[in-house]
Formats: sequence, structure tokens, C-alpha cells
Amino acid sequence: MIDHNIPYGHQYITDEDVKVVIEALKSDYMTQGPLIGQFERNFAEYIGSKYACMVSNGTAALHLCAMALDIKSGDKVITTPITFVASANGFRYLGAEIVFCDIDPKNYCLDLDKLEALLKASPKGTYKAVVPVDFAGYPIDEERLRKLADEYGFAIVVDACHAPGGSFIDSKGEKQMVGNCKYADLTCFSFHPVKHIATGEGGAVTTNNKSLYDKVALYRTHGITKDPALLEKNDGGWYYEMQGLGYNYRITEMQAALGISQLKRLDWSIERRNAIARKYDEAFAGTIVKTPFRAENITHAFHLYVIQVPAEQRKGLYDFLRANKIFSQVLYIPAHTMPYYRQFGWKEGDMPVAEAYYKHCLALPMFPSLTDEEQEWVIAKVKEYFNL
Ligand SMILES: *Cc1c(COP(=O)(O)O)cnc(C)c1O
Repeated sequence: MIDHNIPYGHQYITDEDVKVVIEALKSDYMTQGPLIGQFERNFAEYIGSKYACMVSNGTAALHLCAMALDIKSGDKVITTPITFVASANGFRYLGAEIVFCDIDPKNYCLDLDKLEALLKASPKGTYKAVVPVDFAGYPIDEERLRKLADEYGFAIVVDACHAPGGSFIDSKGEKQMVGNCKYADLTCFSFHPVKHIATGEGGAVTTNNKSLYDKVALYRTHGITKDPALLEKNDGGWYYEMQGLGYNYRITEMQAALGISQLKRLDWSIERRNAIARKYDEAFAGTIVKTPFRAENITHAFHLYVIQVPAEQRKGLYDFLRANKIFSQVLYIPAHTMPYYRQFGWKEGDMPVAEAYYKHCLALPMFPSLTDEEQEWVIAKVKEYFNL
């Protein structure tokens, strides 16, 4: 019997994490110091991208990608309805028209067959960007997306907020880390406490494209640069130029210190999350509780462990678990049914697979510090509810 709350996700902070944050606090810099650059180098090295730009949160990362791509009012951008609304909002900030495309019933990510059909139905160049989401930590097929991008002329911005540490094997048999941008133009990450790396608030953009990176870095800090290579003229050591209208989307040194420390445990976290997933898989195999699919060629990052249960019992299960202090979660309410997005003409019925997914889904507790005892309690309560 467990008598404390079990959330669906939770940060894991060690004594070492606390120590490095205190050291950062006692250093000369609270922001714009050396730890941010260190975190960027370490993250880029781990992910395998040329550049990483640390920012204040994942939403800022998405907004900066849209700015770097010069998205303008009325530009069409495709994304999935099964995501946190920020995936679409980052592009809406610049006035983009969001076009939702339904999900794959197997992996719950953007359905690339449906995407291809959508692309085929309009002249090439109609869509400026496609923003797939590695939903729950499932790495999307970036290689196929690259072929479509080359054919139809759009930029790929992967929202990988769920998937740092995830990877896939491409058709050449090579392992590609999510975010290495072998096939994508830009990739976004979040360091919100429920995500793999938790810095309170925080995010990152990765890319291999110098010009996109320069723009992301520029707009992160007001559109201001001091880089001699980018200045129009140079009056002296104090001189800087504001070359565009940017934001203050910086991360702090304390957060960077925390991120550097947690990045060291990311591989362990992915392994632990996969072990938890396998235990859930085994517990529910052959029952009406449908467990998540994995293709052979992917390493799932398991930000979420989402089961599908009969629609008429989903609310009952959610309430029953809650009564037992287990805080499962429904993720996500389809974005196209949000009042804000309905004003553009989207409505229930437009995305049948996403809407069916929403009626059946429930995310069970999934975080690396979930104990065996806690997980067994969750499993026992789900089984009890269904009389398994
Ligand atoms: C968390 C998340 C974001 C936004 O990240 P924040 O750091 O909270 O701004 C964007 N997209 C997805 C899919 C997310 O899960």
C-alpha cells in the first residue's frame, strides 16, 4: 500500500545538482556567463548537432525557430493536433496560418501518409514549415520527412520536447540521435520539470545550419549582436548593433549549471524509462489496456507512457486512480478543438484519428525516480479497476 501522491511526471534532483547550482550562485555571473556556453557545447556534443542555443523555455525555442525561418503573417505551417499547444503557438506569434494534419494511429505522431496527401493537394511551396512532434518520446521518421521537404519545399522544425536522448536507425543503418539535425533543419527541446532535463524553465534549439543558428542566437537577445563578423561597423569595444527586433529569451547561469549536471544522467534516465515501460507492457499484455507501440528501429525516449482504454471507462479509471493518489494525465486535448483554434474554422470531426486517440488515452506515471513499489501499486490499481 502506497500512501503518498504519485504524479505522472516528476523532476529528479540530486545532491550534486544542488551543489552545482549553489556554486553558480556564488560565481560572478547569474546570467550571460560561461555556464550557458558550456551547457550548449555539452548538449550539442551529446545530441550530435553542430550548434545548440539555450533559451528560456521550449515555447521560446519554437518562436525563435519561426523567426529564424522568417515566417510571416499568413504563411502556412503544418503541425499535429496531439501536442502541447506551444508547437502551434510558436508560429502563430508571427501570424502563421496553422494547418493541422491528423496523427498515425500506431505511434500517435503526425501521419506522414496524410501529410504527403496534403502536400500533393497544393502547389509546391504552399507550406513554409512542418512541425512534427516526437510525441511521448517517439522519434518520428525524419528521413522520410526530409524527402518530402526536398520535394515540396518546406522547412522541418522538429518539436522534440518529449524526446531528448531518443534515437532512430535510418535506412543506411546509421543511428541518428533526435536533434542531430541530419534530416531536420531545426529541433526544439524543453527543460520544464516534467521533461527529461529539468532546469525549472528552459529550452534549446539545435541545428547544423550556421545562418539559422546565428538568427536564433540574435533574436534570443533583443536582436543585438557584438560579433565583429556580423557588425556593419565597429566604433570600439563597447559597440553593439540591434539588427532586428528580438526578445529576451535567455536562460540563467543557475539553470545552465543544473542542465549540465542533469545531461550527465540523460542516458541513465532513458534506460530507466524504458525499463519502466517494459514492466507496464508485461503487466498489461493481452488485456484491454493497450500499450504503446515501438518500431524496431527506434529508441523511445518515454517522456510519457500512454495507454489506450475503452472510452467509456477512461474517466472512471482516471478518477479511481486519483482516489488512490495516482495522478495519471490525459495528454493531449486535440489542439484544433481549442476555442482559440476553432476561430479559424477548425472543429471537432476534422481530425478523426486524433479525436479517437483523445477519448481513449491516459498517461500513467513515468519518471526515472518512480520506484518499483510505486509502479507495482499503479499496475495493481489499474488491474483492480478493470478486474484483471
Ligand atoms: C513542454 C512542451 C513544449 C513547451 O515547452 P515549455 O518549456 O513549457 O515552454 C512544447 N511542445 C511540447 C510538445 C511540449 O511537451
